Amino acid sequence: MNLKIELEKKLQNPIADSSNEELYVALLQLIKDQGKKKVTEKGKKKLYYISAEFLIGKLLSNNLINLGIYEEVKQLLEKEGKSLEVLEEIEPEPSLGNGGLGRLAACFLDSIATLGLHGDGVGLNYHYGLFKQLFENNLQKETPNPWMTEDSWLIKTDVTYPIDFGGFRVQSRLYDIDVLGYENRTTKLHLFDIETVDDGIVGETIDFDKEDIRKNLTLFLYPDDSDEKGRLLRVYQQYFMVSNAARLLLDESVERGSNLHDLADYAVVQINDTHPSMVIPELIRLLQERGILMEEAIDIVSKVCAYTNHTILSEALEKWPINYLEKVVPQLMPIIRELDNRIRLKVSDESTYIIKDGLVHMAHMDIHYGFSVNGVAYLHTEILKNTELHNFYKLYPEKFNNKTNGITFRRWLISCNPKLAALITKLIGEGWKKDAEELQKLGQYIENEEVLKQLLEVKQENKSALVEYIRKTQGQEIHPDSIFDIQIKRLHEYKRQQMNILFVINKYLEIKEGKIPETPITVFFGAKAAPAYIIAKDIIHLILCVQEIVNNDPQVNPYLHVVMVENYNVTLAEKLIPACDISEQISLASKEASGTGNMKFMLNGALTLGTMDGANLEIEELVGSDNIYTFGESSDVVIERYAKGDYSSRSYYEKNPAIKRAVDFIVSETVMKVGNKENLLRLYQELLNKDWFMTFPDFESYKKTREKAYEDYKDRMNWAKKTLINISKAGFFSSDRTIAQYNKDIWKLQ
Ligand SMILES: *Cc1c(COP(=O)(O)O)cnc(C)c1O
Repeated sequence: MNLKIELEKKLQNPIADSSNEELYVALLQLIKDQGKKKVTEKGKKKLYYISAEFLIGKLLSNNLINLGIYEEVKQLLEKEGKSLEVLEEIEPEPSLGNGGLGRLAACFLDSIATLGLHGDGVGLNYHYGLFKQLFENNLQKETPNPWMTEDSWLIKTDVTYPIDFGGFRVQSRLYDIDVLGYENRTTKLHLFDIETVDDGIVGETIDFDKEDIRKNLTLFLYPDDSDEKGRLLRVYQQYFMVSNAARLLLDESVERGSNLHDLADYAVVQINDTHPSMVIPELIRLLQERGILMEEAIDIVSKVCAYTNHTILSEALEKWPINYLEKVVPQLMPIIRELDNRIRLKVSDESTYIIKDGLVHMAHMDIHYGFSVNGVAYLHTEILKNTELHNFYKLYPEKFNNKTNGITFRRWLISCNPKLAALITKLIGEGWKKDAEELQKLGQYIENEEVLKQLLEVKQENKSALVEYIRKTQGQEIHPDSIFDIQIKRLHEYKRQQMNILFVINKYLEIKEGKIPETPITVFFGAKAAPAYIIAKDIIHLILCVQEIVNNDPQVNPYLHVVMVENYNVTLAEKLIPACDISEQISLASKEASGTGNMKFMLNGALTLGTMDGANLEIEELVGSDNIYTFGESSDVVIERYAKGDYSSRSYYEKNPAIKRAVDFIVSETVMKVGNKENLLRLYQELLNKDWFMTFPDFESYKKTREKAYEDYKDRMNWAKKTLINISKAGFFSSDRTIAQYNKDIWKLQ
């Protein structure tokens, strides 16, 4: 392909005379054409990865990399006086996901395509995604995040199905996004939509008429569920998603030769968290419609569906009231009742029943009627087996298995950190791009001063690039030689951003007293809070207030700076992670199922400051305790304390003067002056009287360990050595490894 000729054919103009917008669209079309020419792996059996979220990020650069023409395009544009970086800015980022779970699904599609497996993703085409976060008066404000421009990655297909809800029918329409794997293969992300959806019913805010399903069904991911209408809308969305997925699966299987009795030889479904659980009764229903008897239909579906658990937080394990399902999907309720009855006849342990107290427990249905249940990190799976799902484990020990999460190194190293990728390639060749375990070859350089210096230089360049970006976008001046200490992830109390900001407050007060840090520190936060999650929004408020106070205090600011980035998303993660020195992974032990942010940071040469939670345990095992900063109570201690129910945050507050001083600061005059009394007081009370995620018991060891990391940072060569060890051991966290394991143990695709 002659790139210049092809591009100018699309442009109908010389490159040099075209606008950036025209160039972006031409490149997008060119990539779409190339995608059509790539082979999609075909096999008898096919995977359907059904997920409410696919946090795919921008696709332009990633697709160019995976097509192998990134450098060529970049150089051509430069020669013509254009810049690929500027074009990247034009692409809107869809917010089709919320956090780690959605990003995992996106990494998985990349690996499925790259490994040449026969499988597609299935989800919904949300027009406004989650939401776009703005900060106003130190508060989070949610606005719609439109991303579907006239020329987007979406390809409209002819596939459409009639989907019946209680009392009315809608017509679906399938849109596809090509997922280009590294080098030669592709797969598809199937996003279902309805043609009657009306973007116009949404104004400046994310409020809209939640009852007009024909018009609102695919407007938003996770519409506010603080009222019943919002919760019902979620059920409508979930059924719409799985009914379409099930029909697609059956049609395609029949097309490939299935007689439906042998469906399990033709299809496997991965149920990503509980949102797609209704696919089980829906498949049973559709098989019955096609002439298969209930008994056999249940048997078939039980061999097709596998379930991934992503959390032990009980509020995230969905339980829908029977009357919701009766209203939205009356056709499913008889099947769900039958599924429950069969369990009641077989099993005496009532805690595992599907229908209890008028609620349908979606995860219970998945476990009884799926053939596999997997957790997403070693510790998480052990907790499922021994505690959370112990009663199910006793029934079906053979169903439980672990698949430690992973990330695609194409996006999270090659694309986001080209300088580090180039250094690695210079040292050990290209092989690591396809076999991540080859990163271990870097181990031979840990005593090589020249290499360690180059590693430090790359980090410094990435930090300077971030400094420039923050200056441009947020108007803040950051010290490029300061320690970049970063916590970016959804705002949730279990992730404990509140513990981090209490540390920052403590540090601020120490500096005011004259205790000056030897190396300046910049603390970055990035997080969206669910619109109805009050305390999470209060925590954002506190962070923003502290940011204002610290950054405007001339006595403090030379040594401490706070940056809360607005609208944290994949694009921002790609800029922050390569520049990070210290990766904050400080969830309450037992609560973070795995985490994948921790893996991205490690791969990019940041050191982890973390609790013994999720995949942090596996990071420590790989790098050794000298190359990670762990602290805090173990998951066993935490689980026991919950069981006893005797935690009192107030006693820690009264015992520990540093905690008391930092917590009192929340409602001090200094903060009240820049913040809202209502929010601050509520957060203060919450910490003092509840602190459900137990920040206080870990605070002292957190403080000590974080200070130790700051101290170690001063010895630059030794720090570089630790980062090199982290990079060299990160191969295990490639999603190529994770997907190979899913395939070997669960999907068994040829
Ligand atoms: C990786 C990623 C996450 C998940 O981060 P955790 O630290 O594992 O919670 C969330 N959001 C974005 C944008 C990500 O890229």
